[in-house]
Amino acid sequence: LVDPRLQGISDAIRVVPHFPKPGIMFNDITALLLRPGVFKDAVDMFVERYKGMAIAAVAGIEARGFMFGPAIALAIGAKFIPLRKPGKLPGEVISESYVLEYGTDCLEMHVGAIEAGERVVVVDDLVATGGTLSAAIRLIERAGADVVECACLIGLPKFKVRTRSYLVLPLFQNIRC
Ligand code: AMP
Repeated sequence: LVDPRLQGISDAIRVVPHFPKPGIMFNDITALLLRPGVFKDAVDMFVERYKGMAIAAVAGIEARGFMFGPAIALAIGAKFIPLRKPGKLPGEVISESYVLEYGTDCLEMHVGAIEAGERVVVVDDLVATGGTLSAAIRLIERAGADVVECACLIGLPKFKVRTRSYLVLPLFQNIRC
């Protein structure tokens, strides 16, 4: 861990074994949100990376991408685009499905939220298989925009090899998982 803020961020994330089902080590970022100094450090680290990179939009993945994305967007002068679960957005949408361990899920984005050629950063709390981020990337690319990078707080190390092909920046790999 090179940046000293990373240790505090890592320490503030609570790992809950067997939630929501047996065998899952759940990384609970709500514990970090209770500590304003650490919450700010996490947002600042993303802001420092993306400011000055001509990012037009931050796209946050429901629901935990909504907890970091808007703060990052405001600080870098970008718009915020919510990528939502099915049936939540009232306007015309485009959708992308993705495979979960059991079954499938879907992300939707409002048509017109983004314009062709805009530079976008996708934000979520955690990358595991990368399936969720891939669906987000497909949505944004279908609208003709460019995904500059995906930003997550946490990468699960057991999925590191499989996610290497994505443009994903996890602040740290959670070795407690
Ligand atoms: P994946 O699509 O496999 O990369 O999974 C990432 C998505 O699932 C993110 O939206 C995470 O919030 C959630 N997720 C997956 N595994 C965990 C975990 N161990 N702890 C917390 N969230 C998780």
